[in-house]
Parts: sequence; structure tokens; C-alpha cells
Amino acid sequence: MPVIGTAGHVDHGKSTLVKALTGIDPDRLEEEKRRGLTIDLGFAWLTTPAGRQVGIVDVPGHERFIKNMLAGAGGIDLNLFVVAANEGWKPQSQEHLDIMDLLGISSAIVVITKTDIVDQSAVAVLREEIEERLQGTTLEGSTILEVSALTGLGLEELLAEVDAVLLRAPEPSWSSRTRLWIDRVFSIRGSGTVVTGTLGGGPLHTDQEVEILPGGYRARIRAIQSHRRELLFLGPGNRAALNLVGIEQEALGRGDTLTNPGDWRVTDRLIASLQFLPNLDHEPEARGAYKLHVGSVEIDASIRFLEATPGPGESALAAIRLARATVLDFKDRFILRDSGRRQTVGGGQVLEAHPATSKDRELVTPAGARARLSAPDRHAYLQILLEEQGYLAVQEIPVR
Ligand code: GDP
Ligand code: MG
Repeated sequence: MPVIGTAGHVDHGKSTLVKALTGIDPDRLEEEKRRGLTIDLGFAWLTTPAGRQVGIVDVPGHERFIKNMLAGAGGIDLNLFVVAANEGWKPQSQEHLDIMDLLGISSAIVVITKTDIVDQSAVAVLREEIEERLQGTTLEGSTILEVSALTGLGLEELLAEVDAVLLRAPEPSWSSRTRLWIDRVFSIRGSGTVVTGTLGGGPLHTDQEVEILPGGYRARIRAIQSHRRELLFLGPGNRAALNLVGIEQEALGRGDTLTNPGDWRVTDRLIASLQFLPNLDHEPEARGAYKLHVGSVEIDASIRFLEATPGPGESALAAIRLARATVLDFKDRFILRDSGRRQTVGGGQVLEAHPATSKDRELVTPAGARARLSAPDRHAYLQILLEEQGYLAVQEIPVR
């Protein structure tokens, strides 16, 4: 089932729009989720004019927004990027656009809300400004619609556009290695431990054994629930709740990954290609304290540039050290925030998740970086490493 996410500055009308479209108040679902009343995922739901069942995740907190964006190509199929007509473009509008751009996300509809409280000429000016802001980003050329959640104006057109965009959306990819980023852990009396998250890479099925990293725990899947249905089999690109046997809730946490046993090795170092935002008010610092957001995890990170220190708007190759081990693959996208300034400063893509340990062997060149990022699959990627280096790190090789 396709999933729509919301984006945009606080109080610009995201939750009200979701309620107007679905009849379900997403803020109330959040409350239910916090109290752990249900193993379900707390989505709002709607059926589009074309008869398509769609889930909507409304994002209350900023961190949650980043996490949702990162949950994988299949996590969110379409973003409703909300800008209020009366307030216009705001800092968080820009930050959300920056993040979607850094993550290479292009499936969005821009929704100008609250058009009932300003006159049409103001909306026209805002529309032009938004078009300009989107220029040169992955969202350039996105459809911009004008609505009022209060009067219902424009909602029909919005639903029709949702259908049109979803029709063009690509199928989630099967990259062969199963990985589910855990975003919630709780327990249900009588059933035991439940984790929720978005599945990427490959499938899972009931009764199979799984490995949870970085802890290295083993467990068995007793039941899978996705979008209110019990499933025996879960394909990549779907959000689900998994009931696990053989593991205590206390052993697990947000940011852990659930995988096929033996498929993945954890890492706390990587080589990446970094891109810094053009609108930074300071120079990127190699010695700065950063937080790396990937999947559902946020990890303290330190950076060493492998070429000249980049300025705002520039990119650079870097070696990154993480305070906590996690599961990374080549081409994984991440967001980099400055810990002190509490600001998104840029993002990047993993070039190597298991780089050589000695500094003088960190020899990824700009051409090597391009080759890694254009490798169509893991096999091709490993071949590039092997040809370049003459060896493969044992951690790159699945043991199953
Ligand atoms: P969020 O923080 O983006 O989820 O914003 P909310 O949906 O909570 O809305 C913030 C405020 O704007 C609330 O008081 C809403 O009633 C109001 N609001 C939302 N959409 C509209 C609209 O289309 N027209 C008007 N007049 N008010 C709106
Ligand atoms: Mg809200």
C-alpha cells in the first residue's frame, strides 16, 4: 500500500489537511500510539478517486520528519509539502526542502494551505516564490496546488493529483539484502515483543529467524501485521509491526536493524561523499561535532575530509567515524546535522561501509566515488572494490 507523508513548517496546516482528506485526526492517533494501545501503525487512511488505498503518516516532530524521509525509497511514496498562504515560506519549509533534496527525493506535491484567509494575488505571489525556491532541487517542477482545509476548496484536485503521481511512482526495489530499521519497540501482554519499522532490500516471512544488529541478537518472527492485515510474507517498501519470539523488549531499541542472520556486519567507520548546503551561515568544520541520521538512527559522528575542506554548497569526500556501530550499505543516504548549532548542514552517500583501517589506504578518488555510486547492484560494487584495491574486506561478504 502506498504511503503519503507530510512536510512543512509547524502550524502551516499539515494535520488539518490530513484530517480534511481522511476524516481521521492524526494528532489523536499519535496519542494512541504513545500509549501503546494497538500494535497497528497509527496511520490515517483514504481511498483515492481511482480506488487506491493509501496510508498517510503525519509527522509531528522534526526529528520524526528526517527519520521518515530516511526510512527508504519505499517508506514514503509521496510527500505533501505544505506551505501556509498567510505565512509563506519559513525556515522549516527551507530545511524540509533541503533534506528532501539531499536525500534525492523527488515525489512531492506542494500544497498551499489556508488560501481562505488571504486574497488571490498573495497566493499568486507565493506560488511564484515557491517555484523559484524549488529550482535546481529534486522537487523542481512539482505540481503546486492551492487548498483550504477549512472550506474544502481544492481538495478534490489534490486527490486527483495524488492518483496521478502514484501512478508514475516506481516499484520498490529488491536489492537482495533484507534490512528493517526499527523505529518503535514495545510489548503486548500475551504476545511479547513487537517492533515496527520500514522494510528495505528484501522480504521477511513469519516463522523465520532474524538477527538484530548491532546487538547481534537472534529471534523468530511469530506474526507480521501491515496496514491492519496479518501477513505471512512482507515485501520491501512496506511498513509493518513484527511480533518477535525469543527476545526481550529491553534488549532492543529505536535505531537497531532487523536483518536476515549473517547478511550484514556492523560498522562504525565509513567513507562517504558529502554535500554541504549552500545556505549555511558558517564554513563546514572538520573538527565540528555532528549527528548522522540514517534509517531510524541518529549517531554522533566525527569527520575527516579526504580533500580540501569544502565551503557552503560544496561537496567533498570524507572519512566518518561513528560513536555507535550500525548497519550501512554503499549508496545509503544520510543527513548530517551540526550538534552544537542544531542545524542540518548537509548530507551524503556511503561509498564504503567497511573501509581499510589504515589512513594511507583510504584512497577513494573522485572518479572512484562516481564509479561506486553508479554501480547498479552490490555485485558490480564489489567488483569495483576488488579491481581498485586488489582485495575485499571480509565484512563485505555475506556469511550465510
Ligand atoms: P501543523 O502543525 O502543520 O500540523 O498545523 P495544524 O494542522 O495543526 O494547523 C495549525 C492551525 O492552522 C490550526 O489552528 C488550524 O485550524 C489552522 N488551519 C489549518 N488549515 C487551515 C485552512 O485551510 N484554513 C484556515 N483558515 N485555517 C487552517
Ligand atoms: Mg501537526
